[in-house]
Amino acid sequence: GRGAAMVTAVALRLAAQRRAVDEVLAPLRLSRDDLVKVQALMREEMDKGLGKETNPSASVRMLPTYVTHTPDGTEKGDFLALDLGGTNFRVLVVRITEAGITMASEIYVIPVGIMQGSGEELFDHIIDCIIDFQTKQNLVAQMLPLGFTFSFPCQQVGLDKALLLTWTKGFSASGCVGQDVVQLLRDAAKRKRHLGMQVVALVNDTVGTMMACGYDDPKCEIGLIVGTGTNACYMEEMKNVGTVEGDQGRMCINMEWGAFGDNGCLDHLFTHFDQVVDETTINPGKQRFEKLISGMYLGEIVRQILLVMTEKDLLFQGKPCPKLQTKDIFKTKFLSTIELNGLALRQIRAILNELELDASFEDSVLMKEVCQTVSLRAAQLCAAGLAAVVEKMRESRGVDQLSVTVGVDGTLYKLHPCFSTNLQTTLKDLAPKCNVTFMLSEDGSGKGAALVAAVADRAATPWNS
Ligand code: BGC
Ligand code: MG
Repeated sequence: GRGAAMVTAVALRLAAQRRAVDEVLAPLRLSRDDLVKVQALMREEMDKGLGKETNPSASVRMLPTYVTHTPDGTEKGDFLALDLGGTNFRVLVVRITEAGITMASEIYVIPVGIMQGSGEELFDHIIDCIIDFQTKQNLVAQMLPLGFTFSFPCQQVGLDKALLLTWTKGFSASGCVGQDVVQLLRDAAKRKRHLGMQVVALVNDTVGTMMACGYDDPKCEIGLIVGTGTNACYMEEMKNVGTVEGDQGRMCINMEWGAFGDNGCLDHLFTHFDQVVDETTINPGKQRFEKLISGMYLGEIVRQILLVMTEKDLLFQGKPCPKLQTKDIFKTKFLSTIELNGLALRQIRAILNELELDASFEDSVLMKEVCQTVSLRAAQLCAAGLAAVVEKMRESRGVDQLSVTVGVDGTLYKLHPCFSTNLQTTLKDLAPKCNVTFMLSEDGSGKGAALVAAVADRAATPWNS
């Protein structure tokens, strides 16, 4: 009868809609084979990056850090630490004693005008923040050793000499690329006549995180960041590091895996949405792996998908949404909220209304699926990268089973409801012979920089020991 015909019509419409949605999302859904291939490609790039001759052509830079040991618990002293290059800029004071580590910190804002202004302005601003912090903490009268967590790729020549290779993540301050970042900070301190600090070490945030977690767990030999950007470091055998003299012991390698794929080796994975997102950044063609994974970009990928779905009449009944045209309007935070298990779809609609999106119940369900697809892909790709790392460590150490801890930090990893589970499940599948424990770092960047500074300081200035 008529009723049955109507039911059939609705069913047909839904089936057609489903097909259309799947068609849009298909390029973002990765098979196990895709991930195995990413793992193999990462491994290839790692080997290239470590080789003296092949390093210049590798997209994964595999940078030596001059950190040769994880903490042994004998570190001590009072330190200043800086954390620059993540969601927040922070200044910290870190006290390491036999009884443990205590810290105090303050968050400072770096206005976009300064992030993208001149290098002198940026480093002057940093010194102003340090002076403000030392004043508030009653630490002006002292000369404190400082560890600098600087979350950008640097060619290090030693613990306190680090040439900036390139800016990432929306920074572009002029006159810094190619310069020694430690010297830029010292010069700014001189300009401001600030004598209360002495820069003794610069570390990447991955290294800081590994060191901080390593203080509590000696098996922590990997650092992972999934925040504004993404990257990993790990302890490599010196004999495998062709870019540094010597064969004894180990050195922590800052992989800079965010740039994986910048040589075209991941082109087969990039979707139309990824291309558009990449083209609208201040560093098109760069940090291609990072742009598939990290917090600065996931919201933008989702926004591009929503635009296409609206165009195809799959969302919002095809009504144009002017606000959705605005770059960065869809924050990665929203992905976390939308995917939160048990969160009522009503609440999703409230978020969407904030974006002036008139979302129906069906729209909310579909948006959630889009977010899940994008964040799942991110977690799986991150796992493929990590699988390459742990498998390489297992091989180097000549063991059947590797037991290792990864120190992790970053807003996306910490705030997203499914990212860490998806990452861990995929990693188990891709590297079954590795037993990997994940350890969240608490204030890892600051603590880790201080721990590295402690070792540097012990070597340099006997009066402090
Ligand atoms: C930087 C890395 C950093 C990562 C996470 C990337 O954009 O190149 O040095 O470790 O972000 O903060
Ligand atoms: Mg950070």
